[in-house]
Amino acid sequence: MKILLVEDEQRIADFVCAGFRERGIAVIHCGDGNEGYLLAAGGGYDAIVLDIMLPGRDGLSILSGLRRCGNHTPVILLTARNELDDRVDGLNLGADDYLAKPFFVEELIARIHAMLRRVSGERQNLLCVGELRLDRISREASWAGQSVDLTGREFNLIEYLMRSPGRVFTRTQILEHVWGYDFDPSTNLVDVCIQRIRRKIAGISSCETSPIESVRGVGYRYHDPDKEH
Ligand code: CA
Repeated sequence: MKILLVEDEQRIADFVCAGFRERGIAVIHCGDGNEGYLLAAGGGYDAIVLDIMLPGRDGLSILSGLRRCGNHTPVILLTARNELDDRVDGLNLGADDYLAKPFFVEELIARIHAMLRRVSGERQNLLCVGELRLDRISREASWAGQSVDLTGREFNLIEYLMRSPGRVFTRTQILEHVWGYDFDPSTNLVDVCIQRIRRKIAGISSCETSPIESVRGVGYRYHDPDKEH
């Protein structure tokens, strides 16, 4: 396990780093908000322990910046006793947990383990391809962190395509899967539904091209971001 600790108070950083290393947990420490953001955005950490008051850039801004650009590394915030509003803001911004100072390192480690177990359970319910993210439990969709308001049918259609990026599905396959019974294959239900999804995504995305590609004479596929042309 590898943790990024962003904390400017040397005394706290020292005991946390020592506690982690004693237990075989690799830790990278950084005491500045700007540098912390760059390290966090670079990825490669199982979790981030993030102080709120930091020189350079504060913890809440780091957190919102990471979530906005699609970085979902689990984050536990370290908060001072009087920072209740910050804790609430932090959870709203996408923190996975918080721990009030002062704390014991054992408590921090226990919280990190619990957080990672919880997050890995939640991740199984998440489908992410490129900028689009579907939560199959809450049935919420988001594009680059911004919510996309899809109907149940639209959600099912895009989920079907997203499960196999790059694979082409015929209108008949989509009809059978999403509408569930035999329609006249000449119906334009699929095309209309896809147009609506494209419009909704285009409404919040700066991207010109739609993630749903038309394959002439065959059907549709979800753009595979690993196969950029
Ligand atoms: Ca601080």
